Amino acid sequence: MVNMKTDQVYQYLERIANLLRTDTRRSMVEKGLQPVQLEALHYLSHCNRYSNTPAAVADFLGLTKGTVSQTLGLLENVGMIEKLPDHKDRRVVHLKLTSRGDKVIAETIPPKSLQMALEKMPEAEQGSIVKALDKILRAMQEANQLRTFGVCKSCRHHLIETDDQHRCGLTGELLQNEGIDKICREHETPVSS
Ligand code: SF4
Repeated sequence: MVNMKTDQVYQYLERIANLLRTDTRRSMVEKGLQPVQLEALHYLSHCNRYSNTPAAVADFLGLTKGTVSQTLGLLENVGMIEKLPDHKDRRVVHLKLTSRGDKVIAETIPPKSLQMALEKMPEAEQGSIVKALDKILRAMQEANQLRTFGVCKSCRHHLIETDDQHRCGLTGELLQNEGIDKICREHETPVSS
């Protein structure tokens, strides 16, 4: 039998998701985008340099590489993303938002209705909501053995050196400050958290 709270949480999440979808759909129609195209564009706007490849987009969206390839091709054709070769391995392609793609995301996400709802809440309450949602997401990802796609600074490989430089313990490379708040395909949750 389903726990009462599970049922309630599901209903809230479902209704919130429907409202968010309605809001973003309006602006997608104006911009001529499909939901999956906007999701791919949004992912690319906040992932780090290890995660902006077609394979990572497919992992994040839970779609096949073929579907994602069509989506990315369309975004490229309408000038919202551009492909850049990796400077070490020319077979690897990185995807970057153009200024047009940046503008679409800034105008669409997060939807105004969500912004207005959260602005009315004290910061502590907003923090509690983020923590609770994070716990649900992590538990579901663990149960399904999915990648966490967490923020870099919360990763178990994230190192802060004595000179305050940030380094990725997995790749050994220095991390730029602007990258530490982005999400990463290789992110792993620290064992103790
Ligand atoms: S520290 Fe973790 S999240 Fe950050 S770049 Fe390295 S693997 Fe990715």
